[in-house]
Parts: sequence; C-alpha cells; structure tokens
Amino acid sequence: MTQIRELSQKLSDQIAAGEVIERPSSVVKELVENAIDAQATEVDITFLEGGLKQIIVSDNGTGIAEDDLPLAFKRHATSKITTTDDLFNILTLGFRGEALSSIAAVSRVEILTNTGEPQGIKAEIIDGKLTSQEPIAAKKGTQVKVNDLFYNTPARLKYLKSQKTEIAKMIDVVNQLSLSYPDLSFRLFNGSKRVSQTAGDGDLKKNIANIYGRQIAQKMVPFASENVDFEISGFLSLPEMTRSNRNYMSILLNGRFIKNYQLSRSMINGYGSKLMVGRFPVVVLNIKMDANLVDVNVHPTKQEVRLSKEAQLKELIEQTFKATLAKNNLVQDGLDNL
Ligand code: ADP
Ligand code: MG
Repeated sequence: MTQIRELSQKLSDQIAAGEVIERPSSVVKELVENAIDAQATEVDITFLEGGLKQIIVSDNGTGIAEDDLPLAFKRHATSKITTTDDLFNILTLGFRGEALSSIAAVSRVEILTNTGEPQGIKAEIIDGKLTSQEPIAAKKGTQVKVNDLFYNTPARLKYLKSQKTEIAKMIDVVNQLSLSYPDLSFRLFNGSKRVSQTAGDGDLKKNIANIYGRQIAQKMVPFASENVDFEISGFLSLPEMTRSNRNYMSILLNGRFIKNYQLSRSMINGYGSKLMVGRFPVVVLNIKMDANLVDVNVHPTKQEVRLSKEAQLKELIEQTFKATLAKNNLVQDGLDNL
C-alpha cells in the first residue's frame, strides 16, 4: 500500500499561510502592500479586537477586474511577474502570489472592488474559493475585509500575544510603510477611533515626527548621496539623540522595509566614536538601487534580501554618515562659539 498522498489545496494553502500570515500585523502588511502596488494614494486600515475579529483595508488603487478576481485568491497567482527574468528585477512589493490565498486560508474574506466601471463587484471567499460574485455600488479601488482570523487554526490563535501587543505590531507595520511612502496617506483606526494618520504630502520628516515624536525629529538631519549603483537619502539623529536598541534604525530598500545587520553596522561605523557603546542612533535610510542588484526572493516575508555590491553600499553609507555628522558638528561648534 502506498503511503504518500498529495495534500489537498486547502491543506497546502493552510501550510503556506503559516509562513506568510503569522499574526494580524502580517495581514495588514500584505494588504497595504497590495494597495501600494495597485498605485493607491490613500489607504485606510480598520481593525476590531486586535485584528482578530476584523481587519479592513480600503484603497483607491486600480481595483481588480471581474475576470481576475477568482485568480487573485489562488496561490502562486500574480499580476506582477511572468518570467524568470522578472524574478530578478522585482519592482513591486508583492510577486509571490501568496498573500490573498494565505489570508483566505485562515479567515473569512469579503472583497469589494472596482476598476472604474459604473458598478463594482462584491465577493466572498470561503475555504479558498470564491463563493458569490455580485455587482454592487462601489468607488474605484479595493476593500478587503478579513473576518475571524485564525478561526480554523486554533494553535496559531493560542500563540498570539495580548491584543495590546498585536495592536502595537499593526501600528509598527503602518509606521514602517509610512516612512517608505511619505507620498501616500495612511489612516489607521481601532474601531471608530483613529490611531494614526499621515498627510501623504511627501514630507518624510513630518512622518518621522508623527512616529517618534517632535523631540526626536528635531534632532535629526537630512542626508543624501549617490554613487554609480546606489542612491541613499533620509534622516539621521545627531549623536546626542540615541536609543538603547537598533529598533529605531529603519532601512528601506526600493520602498521595502528590510532587516540587514551589515548595513546597520555601516551606519553605526559612520558615527565612529561619537556614539557611546550600547547606544544606537535613530535613522531612516532610504536606498534606491537597480532591482537587478537585489534578490528579494529569500524568505516568504521578504524582509531579508541578498545584495550584490554590498561592500560598495556599506562604504557609501559610512562615508555619507561621517560627512553629514562632520558638517553638522561644524554648524553646532560655530553656534557654540558665537
Ligand atoms: P502578489 O501581491 O504577490 O501578486 P497577492 O496574493 O497579494 O499576490 O495578490 C494577488 C493579485 O491580486 C495581485 O497580483 C494583484 O493583481 C491583485 N490584487 C491584490 N490586492 C489588490 C488591490 N488592493 N488592488 C488591486 N489589485 C490587487
Ligand atoms: Mg501581495
């Protein structure tokens, strides 16, 4: 008797969902990233009971065409890449075609979408399948409603922390995205109560002040520089404004929030002896580079990436930080001597 069986679509989607959708904040991240990929300029996020009862993400982006809707919830179905070459030239936040199918595998999803037609479409996804699809009045864009997250995976529910912690993680996700996309307006609501809002007027410093507070933002100075392969810009804190951990050092690579020890190291090196041991600066570092030089396809959550020419990038960061701090030191000393 044979013992190997193919997993059902439902079970394999649930397994995949475990990697992509760990907690409510993963739903928020994936849905907001989809909105950004759909060229939205306004994104509203509402949650109930720490996101477990409901998460709604609404955008004013392109919408999903009626015929595409059943595919959108299929695993490995995406409009963002087609060929292997595309895989090494990722220009969007998504490309794996896993988020919507994963979310639908562990919750009850309703979607409302309109590509700019006189009428929109409303559909429900149950057990990964589109059950009903009906016309409805809706403005251009997409609204995804995620109800009863993890209702069918109790082990995952148990592992979640308090509502307060889950809310903090959702706020973190929206904050990170607002640092990458100051041109977009994000609003986050806990029920009807507004938790945060960004203007979407392109003013990164305003978003930094929103997140970390005015006092910190006032101690941050801009930097910008480039070489043949990289363009870096952002804000760094003067050495007198430090924190006891690295969590205030954000790295945004082509609009994607990433974690990279080596790049954090080069920022810290740029401060040299100005930084006390065990203290870390507050930084928002935006890196723009040719998508060919970065491999995003390392991990399902896409926070880890592999960089070509990493040494050159590290050098550019360290030198730019050094020069920016030296310049600001001069200004400071000059003021002190007056
Ligand atoms: P991926 O983002 O990796 O392509 P997803 O599962 O997140 O995979 O989404 C599947 C597809 O559904 C996307 O490629 C896109 O075409 C469509 N889609 C999802 N969300 C939106 C949205 N908010 N607006 C427009 N299209 C969307
Ligand atoms: Mg996606």
